[in-house]
Amino acid sequence: MNENRCDVAVIGGGPVGAALAIALQGNDLNVVLLEARDSEINTTDPRALALSYGTRLLLQRLGAWNRIKNVSGIRTIEVTQKNSPGHTTMRADEMKVSEMGYVLPYTALHAALQEVLHNADIACLYGATVSDLGSTTENAVLTYQHQGRTHTLNASLAVVAEGGKLLEASHPPQVQDYGQSGVIAHVTSSQPASGKAYEHFTPQGPMALLPYLDGYELVLTASHDKAQEMLTWDDRTFLQNLQEHFGDRVGSFTSVGKRSCYPLRLKRAPDITFPHTVLIGNAAQTLHPVAGQGFNMGIRDAWELAQAILDSAPDNVGSAAMCAAYRNSRRIDRNAGIHFTDGLVRLFSNDLPLLGHVRSAALTLLDCLPPVKRFVAKRMMFGANG
Ligand SMILES: Cc1cc2nc3c(=O)[nH]c(=O)nc-3n(C[C@H](O)[C@H](O)[C@H](O)COP(=O)(O)OP(=O)(O)OC[C@H]3O[C@@H](n4cnc5c(N)ncnc54)[C@H](O)[C@@H]3O)c2cc1C
Repeated sequence: MNENRCDVAVIGGGPVGAALAIALQGNDLNVVLLEARDSEINTTDPRALALSYGTRLLLQRLGAWNRIKNVSGIRTIEVTQKNSPGHTTMRADEMKVSEMGYVLPYTALHAALQEVLHNADIACLYGATVSDLGSTTENAVLTYQHQGRTHTLNASLAVVAEGGKLLEASHPPQVQDYGQSGVIAHVTSSQPASGKAYEHFTPQGPMALLPYLDGYELVLTASHDKAQEMLTWDDRTFLQNLQEHFGDRVGSFTSVGKRSCYPLRLKRAPDITFPHTVLIGNAAQTLHPVAGQGFNMGIRDAWELAQAILDSAPDNVGSAAMCAAYRNSRRIDRNAGIHFTDGLVRLFSNDLPLLGHVRSAALTLLDCLPPVKRFVAKRMMFGANG
């Protein structure tokens, strides 16, 4: 990196920012990644992620897939509604793929991407917190703190991939607060996980059981107060309540690991491009995890942005034309993913009796219409751009 100038500055080295930096390597571009965390590797985030088959293909292209340790495959997804007979089952063989998706810890994904990044010709600054981002007619201007000093960096293009705080005050996102938090934990049951994931809709909010190693990664949504209360329950009380909530589709729940809690809401940046600036990943859209779309959409942001950057002449990186090309390439997939996820949460998180019957009938109907089911499954695996 020149003292204070680069072609592309990636703000945030989470999985989406790291994926973008890797996609840009080896192209004579001067790329700098700035990450607030001191260490290269994130070892503390407890969440597990369900990745789609399409995301696996992108991670393979980035050289990260084979480095991920301990991935479990999802071959079947069963969608049910509490106290109702309606259900839908989606199978990998119906989709002509070996797995519909994969389950792995956020930290394992991050470690694999970091390993690739470590061997790439990308300058990475850890312990570098960006505190301000503006622009001139020529470039973006970043202010960041590193090793106790304040620095300025000019970049033809600044990519905001830091999760969404940096521009919140100057460009407020549209927020849909569902009044829900998600409690996550690893649980085991008397019937071993066999590649089947469960999505269970209840008036309290959706829950998911994702097959992972000897058990399941649980995401259980509830009101903020109820979720906080669940964190205080002893293991026995938690497992009893879970059993009552989910029933016995996986036998009896036998153990629960450490529980963590996340507030869940939809945050959507009204604009994903500004002069010499682009937003990707959670900074562009933070989704409810009900449909497991957040990172899957974020990596498509990163991939499409890399293509827009590499397709433009070096002097045009960060130009209005390049930013517009990126914005247009993401419009359909981004809107579809946001509306699909938001629609699922709104439609299934209430206990209006009539709606309950309609939902039950809709799930059964979906199960009987293979072409429609394939359409939904394809959207979940590859996004709206296919
Ligand atoms: C409970 C839960 C379950 C989920 N399950 C799924 C799932 O099953 N499937 C799925 O696809 N998605 C899921 N998601 C969403 C997924 O976790 C996110 O979409 C993904 O983490 C977004 O990655 P990111 O790199 O954009 O942001 P982040 O992961 O938030 O990374 C941002 C990075 O930027 C750094 N940073 C922050 N501020 C600054 C700054 N000022 N300067 C420099 N660096 C900074 C941070 O240290 C961090 O490393 C889930 C989310 C939750 C909460």
